[in-house]
Amino acid sequence: MRSKYAAIATLTLMLLGTAWSFSSNATRILLLNSYHPTLSWTDSLNYGILKTLGQSGINFEIYTENLDLKRNQPSLYISQYTRYIESKYKQAQIELIIVTDNDALNYIEQIRYNVFPGVPVVFCGVNNQYLFAPNTTGVIEEVNLERNLELIATQHPKIKKVYCIVDQTTTGKIIEKTLYGTLLRKAHPFDVEIITNITTHELMARVKEFEPQTAILYVFFNQDIEGNYLPYEAILDSLNKYTTLPIYGVWSFYIKHGIIGGHVISGHDHGRMAAEIAIKICTGTPTDSIKPVIGSTKYVFDYRIMQKHRIKLGQLPKNSVIINNPYNFLKQHKALVAVFVSLFIVLLVIIYLLIIINRNRQRLLEVSRTYNQDLEEKNTQIKESLSKAEEANMLKSAFLANMSHEIRTPLNAIVGFAKLIQTRPDLTDNEVDNFMNIIVENSHRLLNLINDIIDISKIEANQLRFNIRNTHLNPILTNCITNAQIEKDRLKKDNVSLKLITTPTIDEVEVLTDPDRVSQVISNFLNNAIKFTDNGKIILSCLIIKGWIEISVTDTGIGIDQSHKAVIFDRFRQVDNLLTRKYGGSGLGLSICKGIIFGLGGEIGLESELDIGSGFWFRIPLNVSQPIPSTAANIGLTQPNQLANKNILIVEDNESTEKLLSEALKKSKANLIITNNAEEAIEICRISPNLNIVLMDIRLPGINGYEAIRIIKEIRPELPIIVQTANAMSDEREQAIALGCNDYITKPYDAETILTTIEKYAN
Ligand code: ADP
Repeated sequence: MRSKYAAIATLTLMLLGTAWSFSSNATRILLLNSYHPTLSWTDSLNYGILKTLGQSGINFEIYTENLDLKRNQPSLYISQYTRYIESKYKQAQIELIIVTDNDALNYIEQIRYNVFPGVPVVFCGVNNQYLFAPNTTGVIEEVNLERNLELIATQHPKIKKVYCIVDQTTTGKIIEKTLYGTLLRKAHPFDVEIITNITTHELMARVKEFEPQTAILYVFFNQDIEGNYLPYEAILDSLNKYTTLPIYGVWSFYIKHGIIGGHVISGHDHGRMAAEIAIKICTGTPTDSIKPVIGSTKYVFDYRIMQKHRIKLGQLPKNSVIINNPYNFLKQHKALVAVFVSLFIVLLVIIYLLIIINRNRQRLLEVSRTYNQDLEEKNTQIKESLSKAEEANMLKSAFLANMSHEIRTPLNAIVGFAKLIQTRPDLTDNEVDNFMNIIVENSHRLLNLINDIIDISKIEANQLRFNIRNTHLNPILTNCITNAQIEKDRLKKDNVSLKLITTPTIDEVEVLTDPDRVSQVISNFLNNAIKFTDNGKIILSCLIIKGWIEISVTDTGIGIDQSHKAVIFDRFRQVDNLLTRKYGGSGLGLSICKGIIFGLGGEIGLESELDIGSGFWFRIPLNVSQPIPSTAANIGLTQPNQLANKNILIVEDNESTEKLLSEALKKSKANLIITNNAEEAIEICRISPNLNIVLMDIRLPGINGYEAIRIIKEIRPELPIIVQTANAMSDEREQAIALGCNDYITKPYDAETILTTIEKYAN
């Protein structure tokens, strides 16, 4: 490509000035071409000549002339042309003539003795058929057809015929002759047919019809039989349009025009060789001492076309020149390739590093994102905890205020009415009875509240203990409904009906559970239902469903709105303060129920709709077990008067309790022995074999009740001991029973309770 451009530049110079000069004392050379510039062959020869002369370091002045005989008939203008040469170069003192191709050599031979006497002539592109004149030497152009035919035979062993295309120009005729000679000399594995003496049109028509398994050896075809001039490449390009057969050529400038390659002559090389001879002559070597030489030839191939015809690099002759070979490019531009490969590797390394940096960045981002998320979650948790703490604080404050109200109200009634009875002797018996009832009722209310507080604190401390035993549900349910009826009457809820619904087989069912706690939950549900229902009905139902006892209390009361449902079982929760004021209550009941039911392995819940009503339910495992014998039979109940003459020891340090007990037992005609400390009680038990029952307080000065029970039971194991105490915790009861006490009554109790309990153990 570069050489082509250089040639074009040189030729442009020649066309413009026809002389290429350096200075006035330069060696003058006439370059006479047989043909014309732009003809590839002439251009390549000229390029080789001018380039070599230019690089020699000698000062040359070049005059260029072109006979242009490819495109014209010499007879038309040759005499005028000679006159032009004569007049132009007579004074020019040409010192050397370089001619390209046979026509220019023939012409110069004719005029040199007149126009250029004694001037040496160097030729190139001339076919070897001359006896060269004296003072004439140069480079002989010898097309090696035989080598090309051998090449076709080795590359295409299956080929049956080779068509040789050549024209009838001077050179064409010489080559045709050479070809005949070659064919006569040597047999080939295929037929050879020479295509010549033909018009361009006929040539293309023939080519179209070339049978498969043939090849073409394109020598050249510059002029058809009608004298039309055509550039070599134009014919080649047309051939390629009409056939896909393999084409070989003999000149290097055919390469890149669709031929596979061939054993070719390079115009550039021949021009270079001719210029080297010219330089020798100019530097003093006598012309006749330099013998004409045969110009170099070489194998040149086009890799792209080889690929099309499946010719492998390995099957080509040694030292072949391959153009369009991608590997050649790598070989030729090793340094450039090394730079690019290094750059590529550096780029890869940079990309790799960038990927790693990016990954690390992503990882860091991910970590910081997770960290931020964690922070946000923690923040939300802290906010939630804070708002819960604030809410809990608020609830506790509200609870304390409510509690204070709930304690003060009954106390106020108790103290107030007690004082009235004490200070107003004018009161009628009826009024005193009424006031006493109010005092009893408020005392119960206060007691319930205290029990609730104890229960909730036990639930909170996870210390709620259960007294699990075989239990009949029916008595529990009827007892609860009876108490609810009493409560309903007390609250004067006449427009509310109460109903119990159970399965018919409920009598047969025994549950392993804590009956006291179960009735506590049912009573809570029922009392709430009565409290919050003014009209309609309340239904207590008990069902047995797949191993569970499900008990519910439904009412047609005020209902609970959706937002409160979720928190209604939390402690201290009441729907609102207004309601609290209207209905009263500690807000502990339902959370105690929840604690109890969870403790019994059950579930608790509610369905409710505002202004329609509520349904509170719980279910506990059935845990059916074997019926147990009634305890009443074992104990043996006594008649009321059976306490007469029984010796009962009362151990009590609180004077009012002692008085209450004495009063309660007055009618029974029992003998009461009273002591306020355990030491004395133990002694009495030791020395009094007639002692029938001991009523024992727990909190005593000195030895406490538990210790006293232990010691007395050691001395008198058969002696019944009934604990009567204000320690209402169930574990305290269990501890006392474990030590051997026979029964446990918690304060406050009424006279009836104490009497019935003592009577159980009188015998
Ligand atoms: P309280 O002693 O205040 O009744 P609870 O824990 O038993 O405490 O009940 C908490 C709150 O639940 C009540 O104050 C009331 O607002 C609501 N509640 C309970 N049962 C019912 C019901 N059957 N109908 C309507 N509201 C109820």
